[in-house]
Amino acid sequence: MHDFLETSITYLPGVGPKRAELINSELGIYTYRDLLWHFPYKYIDRTKFYRISELDPDLPNVQIKGKIAGYSTEGRGTGKRLVADFRDESGSVKLVWFRGVRWITQTYTPGTEYIVFGKPGIFNGMINIIHPEIESAGKAAERLVSALQAQYSTTEKLKDHFLGSKAIGRLMGTLIKQMTFRIPESLPPWMLAKYKLTDLNEALRNIHFPSVPEEIEKARYRLKFEELFYIQLNLLRFRNNRIRKYKGFVFSTVGEKFNTFYFNNLPFELTTAQKKVMKEIRKDLGSGRQMNRLLQGDVGSGKTLVALMSMLIAIDNGYQACIMAPTEILAAQHFETITKMLKGMDMKVHLLTGSSRKSLRKEIEESLLDRSLNILIGTHALIEENVRFDNLGLVVIDEQHRFGVEQRAKLWQKSLNPPHVLVMTATPIPRTLAMTLYGDLDVSVIDELPPGRIPVRTMHYPESQRNKVFGFLRSQIAGGRQVYIVYPLIKESEKMDYKDLEDGWDTISRVFPPPEYCISVVHGRMTPAVKEASMNLFREGKAHILIATTVIEVGVDIPNASVMVIESAERFGLSQLHQLRGRVGRGAEQSYCILMTSGKLSKEAAARIEVMVKTNDGFEIAETDLQLRGPGDIEGTQQSGIPFDLKISSLSRDGQVIEYVRNIAGEILENDPLLEKNENSILAAEMKRLFSKKQSWSNIS
Ligand code: ADP
Ligand code: MG
Repeated sequence: MHDFLETSITYLPGVGPKRAELINSELGIYTYRDLLWHFPYKYIDRTKFYRISELDPDLPNVQIKGKIAGYSTEGRGTGKRLVADFRDESGSVKLVWFRGVRWITQTYTPGTEYIVFGKPGIFNGMINIIHPEIESAGKAAERLVSALQAQYSTTEKLKDHFLGSKAIGRLMGTLIKQMTFRIPESLPPWMLAKYKLTDLNEALRNIHFPSVPEEIEKARYRLKFEELFYIQLNLLRFRNNRIRKYKGFVFSTVGEKFNTFYFNNLPFELTTAQKKVMKEIRKDLGSGRQMNRLLQGDVGSGKTLVALMSMLIAIDNGYQACIMAPTEILAAQHFETITKMLKGMDMKVHLLTGSSRKSLRKEIEESLLDRSLNILIGTHALIEENVRFDNLGLVVIDEQHRFGVEQRAKLWQKSLNPPHVLVMTATPIPRTLAMTLYGDLDVSVIDELPPGRIPVRTMHYPESQRNKVFGFLRSQIAGGRQVYIVYPLIKESEKMDYKDLEDGWDTISRVFPPPEYCISVVHGRMTPAVKEASMNLFREGKAHILIATTVIEVGVDIPNASVMVIESAERFGLSQLHQLRGRVGRGAEQSYCILMTSGKLSKEAAARIEVMVKTNDGFEIAETDLQLRGPGDIEGTQQSGIPFDLKISSLSRDGQVIEYVRNIAGEILENDPLLEKNENSILAAEMKRLFSKKQSWSNIS
């Protein structure tokens, strides 16, 4: 029976090889299953008829019934059009065609009753409908479709080949008529009963051909439930496997290093949130289970310190620790901060990046193996083959969204027994979304900033007010502050981006000339040494302005820099804007973020700028981001290990269902961890079908 769903759509009457190929490439539909799971995005109520006198251009698609009184031709040249005067007892409306005139006049005769469907518009003060659908009233009555007509997404190319929404609906009808038997249920009967779910066959029929709105709701719920349930079941199963398979190192003591640091070196009191998170981490580390924890905290919330203290616990228990950062600048900064914080303590810390000298590399490699190296800080260089630890106990991954799943997994394999893993991110995501994207991790949140921070003030200026902005920068610099000016860097147009940066540099160095002003520049095309030198100039306060591409996006911490100017802000995504803004507001002074835009903004860009000006709350920004970008486009979904597109549910919007099915999945696995029980055989089979192809990500997520 399974074969039926896996049948190629080529064999569906009305399709054939040519159309099949089109449907494959345009919609990714290959099999009967794919087609059945191509769900409508909305429904139109075909039982409702408007009276022509009720029509107005604000209405969406409408349906009217009446007769053609006569045809005429209006306009000239490309504006030439066929107009039918269409009437019911309440009034008349113009039906307009710019193409297919002969066919229309031959097919639709005056005097016959027709049903007309389309979007009312207005032209010269008269209501019209351009290119309506027309069907004879008699034929419509015979047609066996439900009153609620499903609308399917399609493409321009498919429409050109007569595969619009209506045609897809017809194919769906043909396919469903062929389902004279019951296709196999994909959830066990006990679940259908317990959670009051419509069975699969009914759900599929009803979602495509509903007779009443309640049927749509029930069908959608069942299909959503199923889609999200299997994702959670899979995530939890892997989590359980991991816990069963690997024993974690037990870090039983909080020892001398930690205490020395805490009581002698720690320059400030931990925030309540930092304390809470440290408690969670200590519990993990002592539990005998391998830790796999995500630490979320807005930019500037003090994650580095938590990482450092966790590493000290590892060291106190005789293990080594490492921290991996996505850029050289950030790794170097961690190295500097951490070395400074550990001052006076007997600890060996090294920095390893792509540009580390050979002699240093050698020393690192040796001291890793003879255990004299306590903490290794670095970039991707850490995951190279020849970097081997003797007893790696804890891995910290900073700004984890910058790393792929595979890179993270590689670090995991640096030790025979997997080390504890702490991944940190400043890209806040709503909790229910985190559950899925990072469903295999436990989550800790730092939800407060260190005290004394003054919220950054964000302002939006169009290009025309650039001089005003320059004046403001001048006054800030005169007050002893430093300024970042950031240009976008988007891969596809790298050349153009660098040109932006170069032009910008030209202008700015003219407006802020030496010797009064010192400007340093950082971008991705520089060698690491040059980059570092420029960065240092700014870090040490010698440069007033740092011009940069987004290489500075993550993690840079320079408290005296109090102004962030983002050029072409309309070209940045929201989370990037928020990250960049997080570079300022770290010192005691009022800080500013200035968003420069040019030209007319798209609706989305305007909305992004607006929310940036309105709020500093990372979670609010993340929520807005999800809404603006839509469910299919969330940063990290590709990394999430969900090997298929979501057909009906949304990770961001269906939070409640996600929580619900996650609990259900948890209960099931508690009673039947390997899904071996008879009653769960359907679950085991579906899991195999859905997830057996792509599992290598599963070690770490
Ligand atoms: P992020 O979470 O963005 O990585 P950092 O770890 O870089 O943030 O911390 C930002 C700044 O806040 C650093 O200068 C750090 O020294 C400081 N900081 C961290 N924790 C505290 C605290 N409890 N009290 C005061 N300042 C703190
Ligand atoms: Mg950081």
